[in-house]
Amino acid sequence: MVAPTAVVACDCCDACASTTPATLATPATPAGLQQLPGQEWPSSGQNAWQEESQLHAVQERLLCTKLRELAQDLCPYCWGLLYEVFDGVRGSKRSREEEMAEDSIWECPRLAGVDGVAQLDRVWKWVWYKKEIQVCWKCGVLEHLCRQEKEREASKSCVWSYTVVAILYGLREAALARKKLGGEEVYRETVLGQAGYREEEEEDSRENRDRGFGQWIGERYSRGRIVRHIGSKGIATILATILREDEVEI
Ligand SMILES: [Zn+2]
Ligand SMILES: [Zn+2]
Repeated sequence: MVAPTAVVACDCCDACASTTPATLATPATPAGLQQLPGQEWPSSGQNAWQEESQLHAVQERLLCTKLRELAQDLCPYCWGLLYEVFDGVRGSKRSREEEMAEDSIWECPRLAGVDGVAQLDRVWKWVWYKKEIQVCWKCGVLEHLCRQEKEREASKSCVWSYTVVAILYGLREAALARKKLGGEEVYRETVLGQAGYREEEEEDSRENRDRGFGQWIGERYSRGRIVRHIGSKGIATILATILREDEVEI
């Protein structure tokens, strides 16, 4: 057995500190097994902590890979819209539709049909993050990932701006269309329905609904940390969506 590689705890947040096992320095030797010189046995706490670190690393990689694709090759609004229309299932029809989509929201014919990116602005202006939320206000992605990507691209400004709002806007348009056709029960199965977002089209003005949607995106995600950080409902929903898509890929 190879001795486990020491994993250094980051000091970025309370979650890391609290999940670092107290026995990291002197793990116990399992009964009946001889410990070789220089070899340390992992405690169950250490195992769990390493597994959690690995899980976060995989989640971060999947999230960044998809965001990179959406920043460079595929309009994020169309991706969100098509994701919901095809219920997250990646088949040939959806792939064809995605191939026809432009590579940015500024050239998107689906958005241009109404009043283009101005629609997104009407939601985006209501997305406010409280100080403790570790999210970039331009793109809506976790700050440390946005920072890493800027360094990777040698860019001074955010390279994912608008992405989170554009994806969620697409998911919302398709979810509301599905609700119109199938009612509340169908809506509850949509990505936003499952994330707890509700919208009453009949009872409220478009302006109020856009405001409510923007505010919901910026709210703190309270069911836990997102890859070790305090995040918003917006980025939490997108991470769940990306992870779910990989599960159902056919
Ligand atoms: Zn588009
Ligand atoms: Zn950013």
